Amino acid sequence: MNTLWTPWRMEHVTGAAPRPDGCLFEPPGRGSASPEHLLLYRDRLLVVLLNRFPYANGHLLVAPRRHVGELIALTPEENQALMAMLQQAWRILQERLRPAGCNIGLNIGPVAGAGIVDHLHFHLVPRWAGDHNFMTVLAEVRTIPQHLAETFNQLLPDFQQLLPHGAAHGQP
Ligand SMILES: [Zn+2]
Repeated sequence: MNTLWTPWRMEHVTGAAPRPDGCLFEPPGRGSASPEHLLLYRDRLLVVLLNRFPYANGHLLVAPRRHVGELIALTPEENQALMAMLQQAWRILQERLRPAGCNIGLNIGPVAGAGIVDHLHFHLVPRWAGDHNFMTVLAEVRTIPQHLAETFNQLLPDFQQLLPHGAAHGQP
């Protein structure tokens, strides 16, 4: 079981991508998407990112906008929005990437594998039968950046369609 979850420590090991202005889950700018930051979606309450160091193709990170590390700190409104997004994100992954299954999880504390402990984030890891060697193969051929860009572009329109009407996205 550990082998499934420990790869998420890669966030910690590798430093988790560019963090120019601090937190990975608070990319700069006001837009609802940013290819540079692999930001697929942003609204008043939450963000969706493609993990720069994926355990599988389409590995998503869903986090509240607020920089909170305690599960109990989430408001009822955030709870509802996050769960609704997990539903939609999984639907989109199913439609676009056709996985056979998915792991959805929250790593709380370094002992549980959390690389960024002070900003809660859900992982969605699509799974295919016999996918255990996926990362090994990808790492060896060094095609991850291209792969990420393709997956980002593949998923972006669906996530942008989820945006609430009006001016709800961008900075609150
Ligand atoms: Zn943060």
